[in-house]
Amino acid sequence: MSHVKKVFIKSYGCQMNVYDAERMADVLAPEGYVETATADDADLVILNTCHIREKAAEKVYSELGRLRQLKSERAAEGKATSVVVAGCVAQAEGGEITRRAPVVDLVVGPQSYHRLPSLLARSGNGAKVVDTEFPAEDKFDHLPTPARAVTKARGVSAFLTVQEGCDKFCTFCVVPYTRGAEVSRPVAKILAEAERLADAGVREITLIGQNVNAYHGEGPDGRTWTLGRLLERLSTVPGIARLRYTTSHPRDMDAALIAAHRDLPTLMPYLHLPVQSGSDRILAAMNRQHTGDDYRRIIDEVRAARPDIALSSDFIVGFPGETDADFADTLRLVREVGFASAYSFKYSPRPGTPAAERDGQLPEAVKAARLAVLQAALDESRRAFNAATVGIVTEVLVEREGRHPGQLAGKSPYLQAVQFDGEGAQIGGIITVEITEAGPNSLFGRPLAGATVRDGVAAL
Ligand code: SAM
Ligand code: SF4
Repeated sequence: MSHVKKVFIKSYGCQMNVYDAERMADVLAPEGYVETATADDADLVILNTCHIREKAAEKVYSELGRLRQLKSERAAEGKATSVVVAGCVAQAEGGEITRRAPVVDLVVGPQSYHRLPSLLARSGNGAKVVDTEFPAEDKFDHLPTPARAVTKARGVSAFLTVQEGCDKFCTFCVVPYTRGAEVSRPVAKILAEAERLADAGVREITLIGQNVNAYHGEGPDGRTWTLGRLLERLSTVPGIARLRYTTSHPRDMDAALIAAHRDLPTLMPYLHLPVQSGSDRILAAMNRQHTGDDYRRIIDEVRAARPDIALSSDFIVGFPGETDADFADTLRLVREVGFASAYSFKYSPRPGTPAAERDGQLPEAVKAARLAVLQAALDESRRAFNAATVGIVTEVLVEREGRHPGQLAGKSPYLQAVQFDGEGAQIGGIITVEITEAGPNSLFGRPLAGATVRDGVAAL
C-alpha cells in the first residue's frame, strides 16, 4: 500500500447519497485513502451530488468555484488535489461539468462508483474522465466489505440499500433518468449485509430505495419476495432491534407491508409516504397514479394495523397549473391526515422532465407564498404530534452524546430526537424513557429507574 492519502466526501440530497458516500469510502480504503472532515487537507475531494431541484444542482457549481481556489493554493505548496463529481448531477450533466468547471478531473455516475480506483488512475494531469454508464455488472458485487471498526465508527443506526432506480416517471422528477430503471437486490445479499452490520454493533437498519416498497428481489427460495416478506426475515437477524424503510410510493403499499406494521415489533411505527398534492387534478398531471382519497384509504388501513404510527410525507407546491383551489385541497389533506413530520418544496422545473415543458408555470412569488402557508400547517401538525407524546413512556435507541455534558441523545420509535440525562446508559442500548417535554427540535425525557432495559445495557 502507498502512503496514506486523504479523501473528503461531501454528500448532498437523499439517504441514497449518504449510503453511496460510505460505499465510496469503502472502495477507496484499500487504495490507502482515509476520510478527512474538510476539503482543506484532502488529496481527493468528491462531491456526491443531487439533481432533484435546481437549487441542489447549482450548489455544486458554487462549491466547485471554491475548490478551484483551494486546488491552486495547494498546488502552490506542491500538493496535488483530485476533484470528482459523483451522484445525480454527474449522471445528468456528464462532460458538460468538466467543460463548465475545468477544476474537475473525474465525473462518475451513481452506477459506476465501484470503478473509482481505475477511473482515478486514468484521470489527473489534465486528463478528464467521464463515466456515466449504466454498466451491465452489478456494482454491489464489486464493493469491498468495510472493516468492522469502520462500520462501528459510523454509529448504531445504518442505511442499507435494497432497491435502486424508479419506473414510475412522475412528470416532475429526474430520478428515473439519473438513477435508471428499478432494480432490487437479492434477499441473500441484503441479509449478509444486515448480519455484518449487526456484528459491528448496528442496532437499527433503515432499508432504502428510491421506491423501496416496490421491492421485488429474488428470495433464497428462487421466488420474488416483497418488502413485507424481506422485513419479516430481517426482523430475525440477532442484534437488530429496529427496522425502518424509506421512501415509499402510495401505489406500492400492499397488504403484506401494511400487515408487517401490525405483526413485526421490530418494524418501527413510522411511515414516510409522499403524497405530493391533495388535488386529484394535480396528482393526475403529476402521473402519481393515485387520488387524494386513495391516499386517505391507505392511511386508514395503516392506522388500523398500527394505531400509533407516525406519518410523514413529501409535498410539492406550485406545480404547473396549480390553482388556489388545488392548493386548498392539499391543505385540507394535511389537516385531515395529521403528519408527524414532512418535507415540502417549491416545484422546480427540471430539464428533460415532461412538467418542465408544460403551460401554466407559476411565478416564484406564488410558489413561495403557498410554501409558507403549507409549512405553517405542517409545523402545527408536527408540534401537535410531539405534544401528544409528552407523558408517554417509550423506548429510545441511544445514538450519541447529547448537547450538554452528561446528556445522551437518541430516537424514539416515532423517529423523534430525544435528549435525556444519560447516567448509566450506553450508546447502542435501548432504554425506557418518560417523555417530559417537547422542544422545537427535540424532545426531552427522563430515564425510568428500574424500568426494563433491553439487550444487556447497564441498568439505570
Ligand atoms: N420516490 C419518492 C416518491 O415517489 O415520493 C420521492 C423521491 S424524490 C428523491 C424526493 C422528493 O423530492 C419527492 O417526493 C418530491 O416531493 C421532491 N421533488 C422531486 N422532484 C421535484 C421537483 N422537480 N421540484 C420540487 N420537488 C421535487
Ligand atoms: Fe421520482 Fe418518486 Fe416519482 Fe419515482 S416515484 S419518479 S422517484 S417522485
